[in-house]
Amino acid sequence: MHGNETPTSAFQSPILFMAKRATTMRAEGRDVIDLTLGEPDFNAPEHVLDAAHLALGARLTYSPSNGIEPLRKAIRMRAREDRGLDFGDDQIAVGCGAKQIIFNAFQATLTPGNDVIVPAPYWASYPAMIKMCGAQPIILPTTASEGFRLTAEHLAAGLRLAKLPKWVVLNAPGNPSGSLYSETELQAMAEVLRHYPDVMVLSDDIYAEIRFTQDPYLTLASVAPDLAERILIVDGVSKAYAMTGWRVGWGCGSRSLISAITTVQSQNCTQTSTLSQLAAVAALEGPRNFLAERNAIYRQRRDAALHVLRSSDKLEVSCPEGAFYLLPQIKTGVDDQTLALDLLEVGVATVPGSAFGLPGHLRLSFATDEATLVEGCKRLVRALEAYS
Ligand code: PLP
Repeated sequence: MHGNETPTSAFQSPILFMAKRATTMRAEGRDVIDLTLGEPDFNAPEHVLDAAHLALGARLTYSPSNGIEPLRKAIRMRAREDRGLDFGDDQIAVGCGAKQIIFNAFQATLTPGNDVIVPAPYWASYPAMIKMCGAQPIILPTTASEGFRLTAEHLAAGLRLAKLPKWVVLNAPGNPSGSLYSETELQAMAEVLRHYPDVMVLSDDIYAEIRFTQDPYLTLASVAPDLAERILIVDGVSKAYAMTGWRVGWGCGSRSLISAITTVQSQNCTQTSTLSQLAAVAALEGPRNFLAERNAIYRQRRDAALHVLRSSDKLEVSCPEGAFYLLPQIKTGVDDQTLALDLLEVGVATVPGSAFGLPGHLRLSFATDEATLVEGCKRLVRALEAYS
């Protein structure tokens, strides 16, 4: 270690780095459209804000490390109604966002020498967290022609390669791919996993409610109930309910894993804010029509952005089925990191695909209003004309 490096320097988020650059440039008066962050531009629904105002009048004390009972109850109700999954009260752990639940789960289970299978492109935090817990990510690249989905064959090959496989990470709709798995694909992966009884599955379903297809959402535990004991479903209010700053996420899984996650939680920050938990109860129990309304808006933005991006022969872009990211492949010789920095100079901030294990691509968030998004995409397309 030297200079300004710390033991955590290697884990700094490239997404936050680009977002910070964009913010600094804007503060200097530069016109920069920021398409970096995975943060809905909507507010939390009105009924959630009302519940939070009401809760402010109560005495907000410490709450149990696995979350307040009404929230655990609401999470169980949603799991039952939305996914047909029954969890006991002691199978739910609440934390400061899905992120903390994932970190707690890794911290509770990983030891040096363990391997974790992570399909790429991936949410950049998975490999960082795995390494912070002393374990090793085994990255399995997927391709646009496979719809950026992990295939059963690929999973089997990855598990054979791993010395001490502990977890497989699945994330659908994926950040940044937006891809979903079909029942057949999930069944095929379940079949592979049956040969590895000690391997757990992290099913990160945080974008489950942000989908642009009519099909019901499928998660591995509903398709393969016999594996439920070793699947941790992670979800939260950040994305669907536009409540990123409230920091409420949860995990649903086996009693022993949930107990271990809760122990970690109790020793790091005790619990997430009691006020936020009360707001999350209102989110889960309240009206749900806003979800479809917002998805229609996201979908319209996605299509508007695709229209602009696909007008360039220097980009190739798949159509995401969920979440709010586009992942154009750059068809010129320029590498993604150089391009992302060049694009800042012409007024559009994106994240290089390398940050997600997918060099040669950019990630654009369409969680921003349509006019701004379209202008950002036009700047990108215009800038690409300069490259051969
Ligand atoms: N999982 C994925 C795939 C994400 O993209 C994010 C946030 O960007 C999270 C988890 C974390 O969500 P939370 O805000 O609930 O911590």
